[in-house]
Amino acid sequence: MRVGADVTIIGAGIVGAAVAYRLREKWPDAKIIVLEKEAAPAQHQTGRNSGVIHSGIYYKPGSLKAVLCRTGREMLYDFAQSEEIPHERCGKIILAVEEEELPRLQNLYARGQENQIPGLQLLNSSDIPAYEPHARGVGAIYVPVTGIIDYGAVTQRLLARSQAEVHYRQPVIGITESPNGYLEVQTPTERFRTGYLIACAGLQADRLARMQGLRPALQVVPFRGDYYELIPEARHKVRHLIYPLPHPTYPVLGVHLTRMVDGRVEAGPNAVFAWAREGYSRTAFHLRDAWEALTFPGTWAFFRKHWRIGLEEYRRAFSKRLFYASLRRLVPALEIRDLIPARSGVRALALTPEGTFWDDFHFEVGPRSLHVLNAPSPAATAALALAETIVQKALSTWNPSTSALTTGL
Ligand SMILES: Cc1cc2nc3c(=O)[nH]c(=O)nc-3n(C[C@H](O)[C@H](O)[C@H](O)COP(=O)(O)OP(=O)(O)OC[C@H]3O[C@@H](n4cnc5c(N)ncnc54)[C@H](O)[C@@H]3O)c2cc1C
Repeated sequence: MRVGADVTIIGAGIVGAAVAYRLREKWPDAKIIVLEKEAAPAQHQTGRNSGVIHSGIYYKPGSLKAVLCRTGREMLYDFAQSEEIPHERCGKIILAVEEEELPRLQNLYARGQENQIPGLQLLNSSDIPAYEPHARGVGAIYVPVTGIIDYGAVTQRLLARSQAEVHYRQPVIGITESPNGYLEVQTPTERFRTGYLIACAGLQADRLARMQGLRPALQVVPFRGDYYELIPEARHKVRHLIYPLPHPTYPVLGVHLTRMVDGRVEAGPNAVFAWAREGYSRTAFHLRDAWEALTFPGTWAFFRKHWRIGLEEYRRAFSKRLFYASLRRLVPALEIRDLIPARSGVRALALTPEGTFWDDFHFEVGPRSLHVLNAPSPAATAALALAETIVQKALSTWNPSTSALTTGL
C-alpha cells in the first residue's frame, strides 16, 4: 500500500514530536506523517531519561547545545504551563565535595555566567543546608532555573498538537529516491511517498543515514545508564536535585539524585559501554549492535582514552556498594538500604573514528532529507528550539511547493 505525505518524520521520541509540532506551526495544511517502530511514543531515550530540564550551564559557550538549551528550556516551561503538564522549576545544586574540586567549581560558575544562566549563586559549605539539608560539600553552585518534567508526557502532547498522522509499529527499512522527485520510505508492510524526510531516530540515527546512502563519519555507540530509586522513607533526604561536578573529560554528568514529578527520588545514571543499542538490562546483548561497535575504530580509541574511568563505571554497574559510595559522597545521610534497583536508559554517544565524542548537536543533509545524527542531552530540554533549527534547515534546502502531495501523489 502507498501513503503520500508532504513530510515524513522518522521517530516518535521528543525530537521527532517537536519537529512535527514546529512544522505544523509553519505549515498548517501540510500532511505530516510520523513513522515509529515501537507501539507507543518515547520508548527509548526520551522515556528513559532523568526528567531534568537543564539550565545550560555546562555547555561550550556559543555551541548549539548552549544556545538551544537556554532558549529551549524557556520554550519548554511555557509549553508545559500552557498545556498544564506537571513540571516544577525547582532548582538544583552542584556540589564540590573535596577542596581540590573548588577551582573546577569556580570555572563552571564562570561558564554558567558566560552562558547567561540567570540567578546562579556560589555557595560555601555553610550555605548548602538551606538548599539541601542532607547534602555536604566544601562549596556548591545553586542553579535556580533547573527543573523537572515527564518527557514522555511532553512528547505525547507535542504529537497530539501537531495533528500528524502517527503510524506505530512501522520500522523504516529502506529509503530510496524516486526519479519523479520524491522519496520512498519502506517499512515491512507499507510504502510511504514523501516530499521530504526528517529522521530523528536517536540510537539508530547513523543507520537511517546510511540507509539513504549517506556516509556519516560519526557512529552511534550505546552507553547504558542504570538508576536506583530511594525507598519512600528515605525520600526526605533529597529535596530537589543534587549533582556532583561533572567529570572533566568523560561525557556524562555523573550519578546524581533527582526528585521526579511524581515525588519519587531517583539516583543515577552511571555510563557503561552497552552491548545493545536498545537493551535495558545489565546482560542485554545484540549481535549486530555489538559487532558494529567493536569493529568501529572509534570505540577502541575511546576505550584507550577513557579506560580508567570506563573500568570504574563497569565495576560500579555491578556493585551496589560502589554506586552507593558515589551517592554518599553527596548525601552522607544516605544508607545503602535506602537504594533499590530501578530502570535504565541507553544514551546514543556519537563517536568519530578517532574516538572523540561529538559534543554538539549534528545534522546530515541528504537529497530531500535531513538526518538528526546527534541529539544527546540536553536534547530533551532543548527539543522545541532544536526543532525550530531543524525545520529552518529543512526549509532552506527544500521548497515545499514541490512536495509529494502538491505533486499529486
Ligand atoms: C539515561 C539518560 C538520561 C538523560 N537525561 C536527560 C535529562 O535529564 N534532560 C535532558 O534534556 N536530556 C536527557 N537525556 C537526553 C535525552 O533523553 C535525549 O537527548 C533525547 O531524548 C533524544 O530524543 P530523540 O527523539 O532524538 O531520541 P529517542 O527518544 O531515542 O527517539 C528516537 C525514536 O526513533 C525511533 N526509531 C529509531 N529507528 C527507527 C526506524 N528505523 N523506524 C522507525 N522508528 C525508528 C525509536 O524507536 C525512538 O522512538 C538523557 C538520556 C539518557 C539516555
